[in-house]
Amino acid sequence: MNHDFDLSAVEEEIANCMRCGNCQATCPYYQETGFESSVARGKIALAKSVLQGKIKYTPTLAERFECLTCYACNATCPCGIQIDKIFLAARAVMVRNGGSPAFKKLMAAALKNQGLLDLGLKTATLAKGLLFQPHPSGGLSPRFPLGLDLRRVVPSLSPKTFRDGMRESVTVPGAKSKVAFFTGCLVNYVYPSTGRAVVEILTKSGVSVLIPWKQHCCAAPLALNGVMDVAEQMARSQIDLFSGLDVDAVVVACGTCGESFKKKYVELLDGAPGYAGKARELAAKTCDIADFAWNVAPFNRQLLKELAMRVTYHEPCHLGRGLGVTKEPLEIIRTIPGLDFVPLREPERCCGNAGSFSFTHYDISYNILKHKLADISGTGADAVVTGCSACRMQLEDGFAQEGLGKRVFHTAELLAMSLK
Ligand code: SF4
Ligand code: SF4
Repeated sequence: MNHDFDLSAVEEEIANCMRCGNCQATCPYYQETGFESSVARGKIALAKSVLQGKIKYTPTLAERFECLTCYACNATCPCGIQIDKIFLAARAVMVRNGGSPAFKKLMAAALKNQGLLDLGLKTATLAKGLLFQPHPSGGLSPRFPLGLDLRRVVPSLSPKTFRDGMRESVTVPGAKSKVAFFTGCLVNYVYPSTGRAVVEILTKSGVSVLIPWKQHCCAAPLALNGVMDVAEQMARSQIDLFSGLDVDAVVVACGTCGESFKKKYVELLDGAPGYAGKARELAAKTCDIADFAWNVAPFNRQLLKELAMRVTYHEPCHLGRGLGVTKEPLEIIRTIPGLDFVPLREPERCCGNAGSFSFTHYDISYNILKHKLADISGTGADAVVTGCSACRMQLEDGFAQEGLGKRVFHTAELLAMSLK
C-alpha cells in the first residue's frame, strides 16, 4: 500500500535535479511542443509545488503532467533521477485530491471491470459497420469522433478474442516446463495472431501453456495515470489469480504488461500484508516472450525456415528502457535465415503511441510518429518487427495514412512464421 504518495516519497529524487536541461535533448514531447512544461525539468519543478500542496488540481495543471512515459529522460539524466516516479507521485496526488480528467475516469471505469470491457468491445465489434468505415489500407476509420481522431486508421477488433479461441490449458506431452501466459488486452482483442504465435513458440519448445480465462487488464493505464486505488485493487486480483497457479514462469508479450507484473504490483503492494511477498515472487517469475524464447526455453534453431524479407526493428520504450529487453529480439531476428535486417538510426525513439496519450493528444502523437516513419522508410524495409501491440497499432496507423504499404509483426509472430 505504497500509493499514498507525498513529497517525502520522491523528495530526494526532486532535490537531485540540477536543472542542467540535458533531458530536453531526448524528450520527444518537448521536441514537438518546445514548452518547458513538457520536459522533465519543467515537470519536476511543478511536481514539487503539487506535492508541497502549493498548487491544486486544475485541468490545465493536469495537462502539464501529460507525458509519453517513454523514459528517454530517465536514460539521459546525468543524475540518474527516477523521473517517472516524480511525475507519477504528482499525478497520484492530483487524482487523490479529486482531480482527474473525464477521459481518465471513463478509462478507470472500463478497465476495472473485465466483464464490462468484454461486453463493450464485443458490442463494438458487432456495430463496427455503424461506427467505422473501411480504409483503403484494410483498416478502419471512425465515422464519428467517439474518442478517436477521425484521421486515425485502426485495426478491426478480432471477431473472436484470443482467449475465447483457445483452450485454457495447452499441454505438451513430456513438457520440460509449464508457464502461464498473460495475454494483455490488445493481444486478446485486436491481435490474437500474436497470442497464437506465443503459444506455438512455447509448445514447440516443449513448454505447456496455461491461459487463465479470468485474467484482466494489467492496470498499467491506471497506474501510469495516477489512479492508484483502482490499480491496486486490480493488482491484488491479478496476484490472487497468478500466484495460485502451479507454473514455472509467467510469460508476457508486451513491455507495459511486463512492467506491471515485474515492477508496478511490487510498488503498489509494498508492505501490504499477504500480498507484498506474492507480488515480489510473481515479479521474479515474469518474463517477456523474447527473453523467454532466447534465454529460458530456447527454440530449436534446426526448425527455422527461411523468410525472404527485409525487416527493421522498433524497440518499445517499456520493453527496452523499461524491462531491459534489448538484445533478445535482435538475436531472434538475426537467427532467422533469409532475413535482411536493416537497423533503424534511432530504434529506441518513442513511436508516439503511449496508450491514452494517442487518444487525448493525437496531433502531437502523430507528429512524433512521423520521425519513426521517416527512419523506417530510410531502411527500405518491407516490415517492422516490434514487441508491443500498442506500438504496432501506431505504426500501422502511420503506414496506412501515408500509404507506405509496409507491415508490422510482433517478434513472436516473426519467429513463429519461421518455425512453421
Ligand atoms: S537531465 Fe536530469 S538533472 Fe538535468 S534538468 Fe533534466 S531531470 Fe534535471
Ligand atoms: S518520459 Fe518521455 S515524454 Fe515524458 S518527459 Fe520524459 S522524455 Fe519527455
